[in-house]
Amino acid sequence: MSGCTNLNQQFTVQSSKCQYKSDAIIANFNYETTLVEGNVVRPVETKLQFRTERKVPKLGVMLVGMGGNNGCTCIAGAIANKLKVTWQTKEGEKKANYWGSVMLASTVKLGNDAVGNAVHTPISNMLPMVHPNDIVWGGWDINNMNLGDAMKRAKVLDYDLQQQLYPHMKDIVPLPSVYFPDFIASNQNERANNVLTGTKQEQMEQLRKDIRDFKATNNLDKVIILWTANTERFASVEEGVNDRATSVLNSIKRNEPEISASTVFAVASILEGCTFINGSPQNTFVPGVVELARQQRVFLAGDDFKSGQTKMKSVLVDFLVSAGIKPVSIVSYNHLGNNDGKNLSAPNQFRSKEISKSNVVDDMVASNNILFEKDEHPDHVVVIKYVPHVADSKRAMDEYTSEIFMGGKNTIVMHNTCEDSLLATPLIYDLVILGELCERITMRKEGTEPWEAFHPVLSMLSYMLKAPLVPNGAPVVNALFAQRQAITNVLRACLGLAPENHMSLEHRFE
Ligand code: NAD
Repeated sequence: MSGCTNLNQQFTVQSSKCQYKSDAIIANFNYETTLVEGNVVRPVETKLQFRTERKVPKLGVMLVGMGGNNGCTCIAGAIANKLKVTWQTKEGEKKANYWGSVMLASTVKLGNDAVGNAVHTPISNMLPMVHPNDIVWGGWDINNMNLGDAMKRAKVLDYDLQQQLYPHMKDIVPLPSVYFPDFIASNQNERANNVLTGTKQEQMEQLRKDIRDFKATNNLDKVIILWTANTERFASVEEGVNDRATSVLNSIKRNEPEISASTVFAVASILEGCTFINGSPQNTFVPGVVELARQQRVFLAGDDFKSGQTKMKSVLVDFLVSAGIKPVSIVSYNHLGNNDGKNLSAPNQFRSKEISKSNVVDDMVASNNILFEKDEHPDHVVVIKYVPHVADSKRAMDEYTSEIFMGGKNTIVMHNTCEDSLLATPLIYDLVILGELCERITMRKEGTEPWEAFHPVLSMLSYMLKAPLVPNGAPVVNALFAQRQAITNVLRACLGLAPENHMSLEHRFE
């Protein structure tokens, strides 16, 4: 017997700590933390209340770069699931699914049944959440290809699936976008045939209008904007240019060259009150953008989808360091042949990726000063090469060398064929589902007013992101399972349930 069962139907929590009102779930939660001052340790208890709005809104998602591999695969995937498409491959029939999405294809332990079996439920069953089948998709691309042809160009989905989806995709055409050639590789020039003209201010106003029109035409309650366009070079952060909210707004007005396309999108999104998520590594969120989001109380999340090699790294290094093993060298090679790889073959765009891939082990290394001296880090090198033949089937090769007991060495070598866009696309669904849910959760200390929203820098989405943006002064957590537990335990708190602690004491004593 597995000792594990699943609960797929809706459940209710019966407890004085959880009230289901017509519009919201109100939960009381005892938040227990531990304060360490010198060598004195104090448990701290804070009584909190969570409020989750129950009404799931009609959501629209606008993708920047919707004609790219991730963009069109995301929309194709949602259509295929909505229409319950099945298709033939040489291995037999396949059917549409949302595998690879934490929010749609993973479960959490809810509790135990009366005989002690663990009971799991889909994460999506924990609180009311949007479903990608119901999302209205739209967006922009600097290339005007319709999504039917873009899907063929991407070479991601099976041929028979493409054939079936083509009629549903061919009439979806990206809106013209903001294109500042200096920010992406020059090898992307030939794609840029669908671009806005005018000053940065005029282009930003057009994006704002696009968002408003999309919302009105589709009768939407809210819109989320997500950047899945090419990786840009880093913008240089300069006083009076992008360091403050006012300076970013003024820089857009005076057509300042150092304002990137992604920053123009982020500002337009903030000014329209829409959560903005950055799936690429560049510093779209310059300090002025973060300040603007705080002023407007709009969510930002980024940076860079954590899909393959880095996801593995944020598991493996956590495992090594927490096992008392000292990683001393981590070398990561990638080669890929899709348009992302072509763009990353230019030095400035590669540099953005190199930066976002580099800091991912820092928190784990810093957590163990038995293994690492202050400021000591493993050697960490990242190489990316463009090899057109492999197309979207990215290869990632990693070598982890560690020092073990008594001067011994342990080398782990990994080869990962990643199916790049099929790993990244489910993260888009997750970022949107969780981002939208966070808009409906508020919290307060028991007995106080008013309810408070999450910090505008939405670090709850870190699980899906390589270089998580966190509120100023907050620690960055890269370790994958810690990030996942943060999500599942916050969902539990919203129902007045204690965090999952894996203690299983009921099975450890007689
Ligand atoms: P892609 O090159 O296939 O798609 C990018 C699309 O963006 C293209 O269609 C391009 O025409 C468009 N574009 C470029 N600049 C634009 C602009 N200013 N406005 C609107 N559209 C613009 O790339 P992809 O494989 O879909 O990846 C998208 C992004 O996601 C890249 O930055 C990539 O680094 C990042 N990312 C991807 C993965 C993954 O696929 N596994 C993982 C992490 C991050």
